[in-house]
Amino acid sequence: MLITVAELKSFVATIFAKAGTSEAEAARIAGYLVEANLVGHDSHGVVRVPRYIQWLNEGKVLADVTPETVVDTPVLAVVDGKFGFGQTVTPIAVQLGIDKAKAMGLSAVALRNSGHLGRAGDWAEMAAAAGLISIHYVNVQGSLLVAPFGGVDRRLSTAPYAMGVPLPNRPLILDFATSHVAEGKVLVASRGGKKLPPDALIRPDGTFSGDPVTLYGENPDRNPENGEGAIRAFGLHKGSGLAFMCEILGGALTGNGTCGPRDGARGRITNGMMSFYIRPDVLGSVEEMAERAERYIAFYKSSRPAEPGGEILIPGEVENRSRAERGAKGVPLPDDTWGSIVATAREVGIADAGIPKAA
Ligand code: NAD
Repeated sequence: MLITVAELKSFVATIFAKAGTSEAEAARIAGYLVEANLVGHDSHGVVRVPRYIQWLNEGKVLADVTPETVVDTPVLAVVDGKFGFGQTVTPIAVQLGIDKAKAMGLSAVALRNSGHLGRAGDWAEMAAAAGLISIHYVNVQGSLLVAPFGGVDRRLSTAPYAMGVPLPNRPLILDFATSHVAEGKVLVASRGGKKLPPDALIRPDGTFSGDPVTLYGENPDRNPENGEGAIRAFGLHKGSGLAFMCEILGGALTGNGTCGPRDGARGRITNGMMSFYIRPDVLGSVEEMAERAERYIAFYKSSRPAEPGGEILIPGEVENRSRAERGAKGVPLPDDTWGSIVATAREVGIADAGIPKAA
């Protein structure tokens, strides 16, 4: 199934509006989800629509929430997302960090109780578009999925980490889950999309697996609580340590709560994000910094590839290529993903005439 960006955005926005969000929020959620598909992170794209709608119906995420700024100093803020959609409350928290850093040169904003905020890289891109360097430590309270280095039991979330640096030619955006693969990549693989590496998951007996059943069990609803295994932390002890720090900064420091056994009273999955923003022109000439960075990028990329025909890529390069290609050709979706979105559309009352035809 190949669908144009405009058609997919409009269809997804209609689903959210029918399910009870305002038109503005529906368009915003659709915009961020389709942007994730556009940059090639299908795990954080429209494959999430059925789960988001389920959470909305169950009251686990709330429509059209106005976040509350509970601490506000010239350089620091704590923002409570009050379980609103991440696509609504996170940009407000990020804009606050941007405004403070623009005024003061440096800022830090702790966001807690945000609904799923999607790609952490979106927020580094937003800051970079405003001319700022940013660093984001994110945790996922209520989503216990990842085994720490040396362990088999789940003790971490997929806790993403992102950094952005603005440059005149394009921003540099580093953005990844601290797990070997993001949970959404397991979801995509279980729905017929790209297969997992054979060592992405770990079974209770300590053997590695690339089979999504290890995480979800045989149950068709893809609920990770039904699986017995875990996703592995990335990068051996170093990746596991970074994930740990995402829990401490994104979970403990923000007040979002670290991941752990599900809290029955809340029963929600919330993102916490500790973000730091820097205005580079306070440190010196941004033109000179960009020249030094570009010289280094050329040097970095000039390394001889390890494999014939290989290529050295910088952070954000894969996503920029995907954005150009999918923007022109459309977004490819596996049949299973498309089928689950169409089923959700019907559930919220969209008639067949309102469902785009597969191409
Ligand atoms: P990934 O493994 O694809 O890594 C992406 C990063 O690696 C990017 O910075 C990319 O530019 C870089 N990269 C990719 N291929 C490269 C190559 N060949 N050479 C050099 N650099 C390369 O990403 P992931 O870990 O699967 O994460 C996917 C998305 O999931 C991210 O956007 C992340 O923020 C998001 N996520 C969100 C949550 C949440 O709770 N909101 C949780 C986990 C992950």
